[in-house]
Amino acid sequence: MKDSERVKRAIEVATKAHEGQLRKTGEPYIIHPLAVKKILEEWGMDEDTVIAGILHDTVEDTDLTLNDIKKEFGESVAFLVDGVTKLSNARNGMRDIDTYLPETKDNFLRLMIALGDDIRVLIIKLADRLHNLRTLSALPPDKQKKIAKESLEVFAPLADRLNMGRLRVEMADLAFKYVDPKRYAELKDLIDKHNKSAARSLKKIEEEVGEALKKEKIKFELSGRVKSVYSLHKKLAKHNQNINEIYDLTALRVIVNDITDCYLTLGVIHSLYTPMGGRIKDYIAIPKQNGYQSLHTTVITKDKHVVEFQIRTREMHEYAERGLAASFYYNEQKLTENYKKGKIEHLPTNLLWITELQMTAARLREGKKVDLKKLKLNLFADKIFVYTPKGDIIDLPKGSLPLDFAYRLHSEIGDHVIGVKINGKMSNLNKKLEQGDIVEILTSKNQTPKTSWLDKIITPHARQKLMRAINKNGADGRV
Ligand code: MN
Repeated sequence: MKDSERVKRAIEVATKAHEGQLRKTGEPYIIHPLAVKKILEEWGMDEDTVIAGILHDTVEDTDLTLNDIKKEFGESVAFLVDGVTKLSNARNGMRDIDTYLPETKDNFLRLMIALGDDIRVLIIKLADRLHNLRTLSALPPDKQKKIAKESLEVFAPLADRLNMGRLRVEMADLAFKYVDPKRYAELKDLIDKHNKSAARSLKKIEEEVGEALKKEKIKFELSGRVKSVYSLHKKLAKHNQNINEIYDLTALRVIVNDITDCYLTLGVIHSLYTPMGGRIKDYIAIPKQNGYQSLHTTVITKDKHVVEFQIRTREMHEYAERGLAASFYYNEQKLTENYKKGKIEHLPTNLLWITELQMTAARLREGKKVDLKKLKLNLFADKIFVYTPKGDIIDLPKGSLPLDFAYRLHSEIGDHVIGVKINGKMSNLNKKLEQGDIVEILTSKNQTPKTSWLDKIITPHARQKLMRAINKNGADGRV
């Protein structure tokens, strides 16, 4: 990619500011911000984010001020650099490795909430952390362990939350190597050996599947998926260290053109091999919490090999690998516009928790009390996915009621609810919504919002909208 004039200028400014500083590796410091720049570009981030990545350590470590940055690169870049600086400041002063983690987790949560306004701050921080992990060997062992542990417990889960799969895997494996070197080496060896011994039969399976798909005139890309060391470690812990219960050591990924082809491909694979009961997962119809979509199935081949298949479209693949960053790539213009207006409206439905974060941030800034424990639960609790009659997916917290759904669609709909149909049948406003329900809200122009509805709502979002409507219209909607 060719650097724009602004990017070139940012590199100049950062190089000058960091002049004379060295990294622990002995290299000039500027190597680090430039590596962060490259990572952000690979993720497809917008120019302001890339520039902020180049400048991310200047305010903390050099004479450059936030004002200098604002003057030359504008408000948005300055905001991002400030956010990253604040994040790293929060970690200062917590030196004791044992008390450090629980503390940082809480502090980080608090900070993420405060910074929830612009999720790009977190994306820069993730790029920063990724490069620091890649070059961790230069640090003294106690620091290595600390940074690695924090990466495993805070940053990798965060990457997962944002569905940045490729980042999560790289981060977790880099970090795990330092947290438990012996175990890492053991498992790495195990995976390598397994891959070696499976290579030949895998090739045969690829050929068989390829041929069958061609016969059906399905266009496809087929590739192997390498199991990450850390995820194997976690899975083994769940299965009493019994390697025979790990069914996805060998996995193949099939990328096809559209959703119809995904299901056709699943059929082709099931006609070739015997699927294992209970191991077919339709994350296309019901995506994972973080928006991940794919069909998964585990089959037993004629030679008794156990292979997991992941079937998805190109877009689903991009999203699984790059997550939130991919959405930025697709919606860059829209998103940037909305950030300027201070709102995030074009996030994929599955990432609406970011909006929740943003609302909480507003409360914190207004000095209102926020119960962080509750919030954590709320943010990370299970969600359900329900559908509009048109098939749009809406994610809601478990236990949500029809009015929560209605207000999520639009306050105009929420304010005028007279009834609800769930899966085509008349139901009532006290009925808890279940995963996969198709929900149709019935409205009437003459209906007005009722105070009694407050008992039929569980989401803060709907409560806020209802309260606003009641305050505007007077109690029980009488004007
Ligand atoms: Mn840095």
